[in-house]
Amino acid sequence: MNILVLNCGSSSLKYQVIEICSEKILAKGICDRINLGDSFFIQKTFDNREIKKELKIKNHEQAIDLIIKYLLDKDYGVLNKIEEINAIGHRVLHGGSYFDKPVLIDDRVKIVIKDCFVLGPLHNPNNLAGIEACEKLFSSNIKQVAVFDTAFHQTMQRKVFSYALPYELCKKKSIRRYGFHGTSHEYIANRTCKILNNNNLKIISCHLGNGSSICAIEKLKCIDTTMGMTPIEGLPMGTRCGDIDPGILFFLAKKENMNLDEIDNILNKSSGMLGISGISSDFRDLENEAKKNNKRAKLALEIFCYRTAKYIGAYTVCLGGIDVIVFTAGVGENSTTTRKKICEYLDFAGVKINQEKNNLRGKEVMFSTDESTVKLLVIPTNEELMIARKTKMIINNLRK
Ligand code: AMP
Repeated sequence: MNILVLNCGSSSLKYQVIEICSEKILAKGICDRINLGDSFFIQKTFDNREIKKELKIKNHEQAIDLIIKYLLDKDYGVLNKIEEINAIGHRVLHGGSYFDKPVLIDDRVKIVIKDCFVLGPLHNPNNLAGIEACEKLFSSNIKQVAVFDTAFHQTMQRKVFSYALPYELCKKKSIRRYGFHGTSHEYIANRTCKILNNNNLKIISCHLGNGSSICAIEKLKCIDTTMGMTPIEGLPMGTRCGDIDPGILFFLAKKENMNLDEIDNILNKSSGMLGISGISSDFRDLENEAKKNNKRAKLALEIFCYRTAKYIGAYTVCLGGIDVIVFTAGVGENSTTTRKKICEYLDFAGVKINQEKNNLRGKEVMFSTDESTVKLLVIPTNEELMIARKTKMIINNLRK
């Protein structure tokens, strides 16, 4: 069974075709800079054929049309006919409180995704555009499944997801913590339990990338996570500020006469690693500058590691103990110095690193010593595979 996995962002569309029984990626690619004038398209296949094109892509429908064309291309493609795609799995950012699992897409589901536009204004409209484009471009027989980034976190208890704001207001306006990166944290939880052959683990999953979040997991269920109603809450990120005193917003509005758009821009686009360092949101740039003794690059990295360790400490309490800490995503998988610095904060609790194993990048590895009180793992995340597995599960249930 071949599953097309689509991740429709605001100006990009990433995709993979996965043969789900063998979990083999047949092709993957991206349409980038959609509707920005200088769009481009890249596709790579399992046997290392690659095509790159610079061309105008106006919208998601055109992008999907292009993807179909190159999946079927006789030189660069992997399919003989479009019917070889058996189902489509869509990453959808926000499912509000409506969805705690993936769903088969029908008119009702589309209405709910639309209802959640207000909660995920940058993503949900594009996710829906992708779904509707597929309805036009594929046969009406093909099933589409929505896999929500928020769904895994729906097991959080009320005391965890509620803000200390007026109760009625929150209820009326659906103001609560939802959490994101759920598909990644769920993949990490499953993989960790498989590697350690135990489903009852207390896991702290650290998804550290351009966007970062931590998730406290017990028995494969989310107990708490750092992102909130929106992805700004929690850790400082590439360009997002993470937790701050909300009083700062009033200060900026009242004392600096900033309007809401300006404040939004600061919090989302010019804070975090970029804001602190004044150099870059990219950890590789910051690590290079830190080596040259750049004070602000060093400060940005120190703040990131300190705040990550602080949340790990907090989540150890929330879980009533901890068995394993897992690092994933661009920084978690590759930045050996970030992992080392974070783990050093936990040295007092008997968390010990095997330096040699920690030097590996982008690979599954256990980098704790045998004596360490907590196991330390690196697991490269695979959200696309998780979406494909869930799509298969829904399709197989339909056939029963
Ligand atoms: P992601 O959002 O998961 O793609 O992660 C992007 C982040 O990972 C960027 O800040 C990159 O600088 C960082 N990253 C990727 N490779 C490395 C590396 N080898 N060392 C340090 N950071 C890295």
